[in-house]
Amino acid sequence: MRTPDVGRLSASELGDARRELAVSRALSRRDSPIHLPINAQLLAIDAELVSRGVRMCGCGMAADDDGLMDGHLFEFPAHEERDLGRFFAGR
Ligand SMILES: [Zn+2]
Repeated sequence: MRTPDVGRLSASELGDARRELAVSRALSRRDSPIHLPINAQLLAIDAELVSRGVRMCGCGMAADDDGLMDGHLFEFPAHEERDLGRFFAGR
C-alpha cells in the first residue's frame, strides 16, 4: 500500500489510514519485516494528528472538530479517545 503524504490527508482520511495500517499490522506475522514501514507510517500519522490538534477515538474515528468528537464519545460510551500524550513528553 502506498500511503500519500500525510500532510495532504483530511482528519477523517488520517483516521481511515491509521485504522487500515493497524489492521495490516495486526494481520501480519509478529516477526514480519512489514512492521518497520507500517510502524513508521503510524508514527507519521500520529505526529500529524498531534500537530493539527486532531482528536482520535480508539475505533479510528478522527475529527478536528471538538463537538464532533465529544458527540461521538457521548454516543458510544464504550469508546475511548486515544491518548497521544506521549508526544508531549518533555514539554
Ligand atoms: Zn469511537
